[in-house]
Amino acid sequence: MSSMEQITIDPCPICGGSHTYPLSVHQSVCTRGLGADSLKSVSNPGLARRRVTRFLMCPVKHVMFQATLELPDGLELTA
Ligand SMILES: [Zn+2]
Repeated sequence: MSSMEQITIDPCPICGGSHTYPLSVHQSVCTRGLGADSLKSVSNPGLARRRVTRFLMCPVKHVMFQATLELPDGLELTA
């Protein structure tokens, strides 16, 4: 059950190249504790995406840059 997800930045705003960053499973769904009723509104949890802003490191120039990403719900950037 290999669920290795990646996100690709292309082009990189620093060097113009293409970089891939790994994503890891972020188990926040199980820790809500809001009761079963709140889960009914989530019809397609696998398709849910959220827009987040993260700082990433360009591996070529070693410069941090800010990127707005759409991460699948339940996954978090590891880099
Ligand atoms: Zn770069």
